[in-house]
Amino acid sequence: MSKQAREQLKHWAQDLSTVAVLTDIDGTLAPIVPTPDLSKVPKELRELLRCLSGRCRIVAAISGRTAEEASQLIGLEGIVYYGNHGFELLRGGEVEVIPEAAPYRTAIEELQEKAREELGPLGAFIEEKGITTSIHYRNVSSEVGERCKAFVKREGERLGLRITVGRGVVEARPPVHADKGTSVRRLVEEYSPERALFIGDDTTDLDAFRELEALREEGMLTETLRIGVKSNEVPSEITSKSDLVVDGVEGVEEVLRMLAQDG
Ligand SMILES: [Mg+2]
Repeated sequence: MSKQAREQLKHWAQDLSTVAVLTDIDGTLAPIVPTPDLSKVPKELRELLRCLSGRCRIVAAISGRTAEEASQLIGLEGIVYYGNHGFELLRGGEVEVIPEAAPYRTAIEELQEKAREELGPLGAFIEEKGITTSIHYRNVSSEVGERCKAFVKREGERLGLRITVGRGVVEARPPVHADKGTSVRRLVEEYSPERALFIGDDTTDLDAFRELEALREEGMLTETLRIGVKSNEVPSEITSKSDLVVDGVEGVEEVLRMLAQDG
């Protein structure tokens, strides 16, 4: 870690009540493992987050997983969990859908019900994620896969939803701009920290980096710190857009320890 970064973290540690700690989970707090359900946040890191959540203005985890999954992974109550592409958050045990997306809940439910009736018997798996839904067709014939895509596109668009196709999966979500960047902005607007850092390791984290910079330029934040986590698969943009690059989950732990002035 550079001397400058060290000095900055020390300086922030003087008054944590003005600091927002915002972080990705997978690949940042939890090492990447072959299947996502085996992910784990190391105990030491969890303890540091617990300590910081009691002293910082806010500690928030922002993940592509659902907010519920994110909260189960970390398992701390004092943290805000933003999940599902920025469409929902969990705090104090309650899941909240962002106001712009909430009106689309019935459309998502209607699509899920139709998909269960039409595509379920063909072998597709309908994953219900609250305010979004994913229809998986990896384990069916390509003919059935095409049918799934066509069905979700047609019905989803009729219901006013945004449809995206991935590998073996078609997703429906509200036609509302939401990502890790919008999550960062909402948190800063709501909790009014003076300084904020974001830690991430992947392309979707760049939206959060970008928003931090925008908030600083607008005067909403006085200081920001974009921390990139280096791993084998890290996109080059993450390291080039970071103020500080750390080595894996251990590097993240070092940053948080410095902030907590613990050792
Ligand atoms: Mg990640």
